[in-house]
Amino acid sequence: MTVANQKGGVGKTTTTVNLAAALSMHGQRVLVVDLDPQGNASTALATEHRSGVPSVYQVLVDDLPLASIVKPVPEMPNLYCAPATLDLAGAEIELVPMVGRETRLKRALNAFDSMELDYILIDCPPSLGLLTVNAMAAAQEVLIPIQCEYYALEGLTQLLQNVELVRVHLNQDLNVSTILLTMYDGRTRLASQVAEEVRSHFGDTVLNAVIPRSVRVSEAPSYSQSVMTYDPGSSGALAYKEAAREMAYRGAAVAEA
Ligand code: ADP
Ligand code: MG
Repeated sequence: MTVANQKGGVGKTTTTVNLAAALSMHGQRVLVVDLDPQGNASTALATEHRSGVPSVYQVLVDDLPLASIVKPVPEMPNLYCAPATLDLAGAEIELVPMVGRETRLKRALNAFDSMELDYILIDCPPSLGLLTVNAMAAAQEVLIPIQCEYYALEGLTQLLQNVELVRVHLNQDLNVSTILLTMYDGRTRLASQVAEEVRSHFGDTVLNAVIPRSVRVSEAPSYSQSVMTYDPGSSGALAYKEAAREMAYRGAAVAEA
């Protein structure tokens, strides 16, 4: 599942990390692939990602096997992370002349023995460049976090067009399966208006769970943790747990069908 939205700061990384943690705490085996050169998901998952550490960059550009960079997340038994380093910023350009530049991640994942993984979540950078295209080409599903703020829906048409292009040209299995409303501030009418608008456009694709704006959520990464372990009883942790539960039910329903 690719977590994408070309807008920055909408909660992609927070969603990736916390859903992955929540799913893993329920016994699902989860791999997070950090595809953002900023490496924020790697930070939150306490996975080393200083420049020079073998990372997704070498996997995409130098054909290093994915298995050689995947690290278990400390104190999270079912959770794994493929870290991103700043080197990845160069990949966007270095990939351009390469053969199969859009499908480098897909190839790496296909060659990877997925160790009976239940989920792979890919955290995208805030752009629709080659890294995000690689993520979409490699995934079955796209999860779009939408921040409950003004301008939230701006750019969504372009994002959906890109998903459609990837579906037609690179990956016919791809679909936008999940939309998650993030940073919901119940005190503002704007937040409920945005939520209503998103639900009226996208119906059942939108998870019932809504992630509230919560200081605990934003504090957790500075302790190299997800909010699921940093403050499991907080409103943010409970909301991500509920979102993960909905996703797991949907997955089970799809598997049975
Ligand atoms: P993106 O990956 O889309 O750029 P992030 O997940 O990094 O977005 O989130 C952007 C900022 O907002 C971060 O500082 C993060 O800690 C904060 N943030 C994300 N979700 C919440 C939330 N529910 N409540 C409060 N702060 C949040
Ligand atoms: Mg991010």
